[in-house]
Amino acid sequence: MYETLALYIDGEFLAGDGRKTQPVTNPSTLEVLGQLPHATTADLDRALAAAQRAFETWRHSSPMLRSEILRKVGALTRERAQEIGRNMTLDQGKPLAEAVGEVMACSDHADWHAEECRRIYGRVILPRSPEVRQMVLREPIGVCAAFTPWNFPYNQAIRKICAAVGAGCTVILKGPEDSPSAVVAIARLFHDAGLPPGVLNIVWGVPSEISEYLIRSPIVRKVSFTGSVPVGKHLASLAGAHMKRVTMELGGHSPVLVFPDADIDRAAKHLARFKVRNAGQVCVSPTRFYVHEKVYDRFLDSFVNTLKGVKIGDGLDPETQMGPLAHERRVPTMAKFVENAVERGGKVVLGGEALERIGHFFAPTVVTDLPDDSMLMTEEPFGPIAPIARFSDTDDVIRKANSLPFGLSSYVFTTSLQTATKVSNGIEAGMVNINHFGSALPETPFGGIKDSGIGSEGGAETFDGYLVTKFVTHV
Ligand code: NAD
Repeated sequence: MYETLALYIDGEFLAGDGRKTQPVTNPSTLEVLGQLPHATTADLDRALAAAQRAFETWRHSSPMLRSEILRKVGALTRERAQEIGRNMTLDQGKPLAEAVGEVMACSDHADWHAEECRRIYGRVILPRSPEVRQMVLREPIGVCAAFTPWNFPYNQAIRKICAAVGAGCTVILKGPEDSPSAVVAIARLFHDAGLPPGVLNIVWGVPSEISEYLIRSPIVRKVSFTGSVPVGKHLASLAGAHMKRVTMELGGHSPVLVFPDADIDRAAKHLARFKVRNAGQVCVSPTRFYVHEKVYDRFLDSFVNTLKGVKIGDGLDPETQMGPLAHERRVPTMAKFVENAVERGGKVVLGGEALERIGHFFAPTVVTDLPDDSMLMTEEPFGPIAPIARFSDTDDVIRKANSLPFGLSSYVFTTSLQTATKVSNGIEAGMVNINHFGSALPETPFGGIKDSGIGSEGGAETFDGYLVTKFVTHV
């Protein structure tokens, strides 16, 4: 059975009642899985009123209570991971092991926020005269509007909700309409864990209409978005017009720098497997490969051979290592990248086409010999395509890595401490992974710089975006 889709407002699951619906389909089989209800304007007003009312109580709730609820969410997540993961494979397409793994990793997020939310401290500042006392308090910012995408439907939503709820805020979240089951499952988890009505509200609809309505509302004090750079800029400008705080987790075009002293076969195999994770629909996916000319041929051979062995299919098949793209619209986008690459003189050494079968499948693709200003070298593919280029000089490759307006993740493979230090100092990115893939743990900050975003999620920074600073002085 697929998830029973619903809105979640003021502690109630709502569907039907003449609301408009949209079909949710399985990207592997094109089968319709369910009908997702859209929120009416009255639903949005009700969610806003509920979040505002709940904030008055929740802001003063004991961190022990918040912690207890988040812990219960963590425990229930582990119990329900198989079922939630299966539904996510059905509506998003990723292999079942990846889907269940995503859910299980999120129980860690809930646990970690449960621990950290008990440690939101202010400070005392020494006064200039002994009769004065000066304090800095950190208070929850208020009602948050959050918008989360379809590539990691569970992870992206739970990170925002845990941070907001743990900080004492209330939330209205619009999840991904194309892959909604995970977010409905999250609402059920918080409901069953005893979160008071109104603290978390889930709405669905036309993304631009919902975001505009919520961001303009004077009730909303904070906007958090994960998705593409253009949409993030649009929402940040709307929020800015109303002087609202934002957290923006946007796209990137993560450079990979492979130096000749690295373990080349290991790097190539690991990178190839990481490249096809979630069919490449990962904001920190390795997307621009710069390989030193001395090891370029060896790297390319090993990378291409590993990709050739990737088993593509329906995510429910336990053999599957790469599923379909999440949506029909992603397939022509991939084809456009390849078309432009060929026009610009690139060589397609693997794949390059949609697979001839039902579902939104695109072959793992490798393109070489592209000019730096081609589409694939400058725009995030967000799919299973890897452009691979040669380099010979460290300063030059750092300059190339930094040449785009993005700065999300980056990857370096080298056994030289000097090279690792030089690159991690020089690279403009929110995350630098050297010889492994280590981002996105609950205890480490996740976020980008430049056009890739504002603020971090996770790490000791996780509550920063949801707290305001108040200075209190008295004699
Ligand atoms: P898109 O830009 O149309 O949408 C991206 C996400 O933003 C979707 O979840 C969508 O529902 C939401 N969205 C779109 N317009 C919105 C609005 N006005 N208000 C609120 N939410 C809105 O692109 P797409 O085809 O769905 O995805 C492709 C691109 O999105 C990729 O190129 C990638 O860069 C980006 N993306 C990034 C992430 C990430 O984790 N940073 C996740 C998903 C998609």
